[in-house]
Amino acid sequence: MSIEVSSVTKLYDSQSALNNVSFSVDKGSIVGFLGPNGAGKSTMMKILTGYVKPSEGSVLVNGINVLENPIEAQKSIGYLPENNPLYTEMYVKEYLQFQASIYKVAKENISAIIDKVGLTPEVHKKIGQLSKGYQQRVGLAAALLHNPTVLILDEPTTGLDPNQLVSIRALIKEVGKDKTVLFSTHIMQEVEAVCDRVIIIKKGEIVVDKLLKEVRSNQHQVIEVTFDFKLEEQFIKKLPNLISYKNNYDTTWFLTFNSKEDMRPVVFDFAQEIGLKILGLNTQNQNLEALFRESTN
Ligand code: ADP
Ligand code: MG
Repeated sequence: MSIEVSSVTKLYDSQSALNNVSFSVDKGSIVGFLGPNGAGKSTMMKILTGYVKPSEGSVLVNGINVLENPIEAQKSIGYLPENNPLYTEMYVKEYLQFQASIYKVAKENISAIIDKVGLTPEVHKKIGQLSKGYQQRVGLAAALLHNPTVLILDEPTTGLDPNQLVSIRALIKEVGKDKTVLFSTHIMQEVEAVCDRVIIIKKGEIVVDKLLKEVRSNQHQVIEVTFDFKLEEQFIKKLPNLISYKNNYDTTWFLTFNSKEDMRPVVFDFAQEIGLKILGLNTQNQNLEALFRESTN
């Protein structure tokens, strides 16, 4: 187990931010920590990284008790705090060298990390001159410097534009391949795109803890598809397992299927059969959205 949280409660004065929270995370999984603002996500992450002490309960990271041995635990944790506090007057490389010296990381490792997070073209700029997306890459690089096995990322994509969102998500997925990742967000699509498990927290309590494949099974699949030409309704109706359809704009359809099978290849073959090309194909997970609404409302 990479992370083991047992009965953690956190009170700020008399107000409870976390109430008897328990969960554990297997080595190598990517877990989305989802919840509305004020749910307790950041508090949980600060406790996991040893920056805040819980009022009750215990936390182990790679078997090390974070409360008793924070320095030792932090050696295996990479942490990107919320709002990614950076020194905007420092140059990218200078900042990472500074961080490396704190972590006692060999300077030779810095270039590899810079390359890994895609910062090479921006490396000679001041952090304050970078776009938000590149600033997040600097934060990620700093979190990765000491080659931690556990990554704790607090809202790493908040405030990014749509292009930056996509690339930072891909980067998280890539660096998460050989690590355990817990990252918080309030964007459901993000959890779908990146995670294999979702934990939903509401008012300091876990209300959902599920594998994405469990969430996906036995449900309605919504596929948004754009063809290269307009299509008659009578053709669309021929798709198997279709329970409803909507022709939103011109050549774009929202198709809802009731099937456990991934219907994307079916839609693809269907288009080919009738001589159309697919210009866009997206699947949306209605269930996660429904789950979030039901469990947090
Ligand atoms: P999230 O990250 O999910 O938005 P937080 O963990 O930041 O939630 O906050 C959970 C609750 O704890 C909120 O009600 C918040 O106001 C409160 N809180 C967080 N940090 C502090 C603090 N330092 N002092 C007092 N209350 C706090
Ligand atoms: Mg937060």
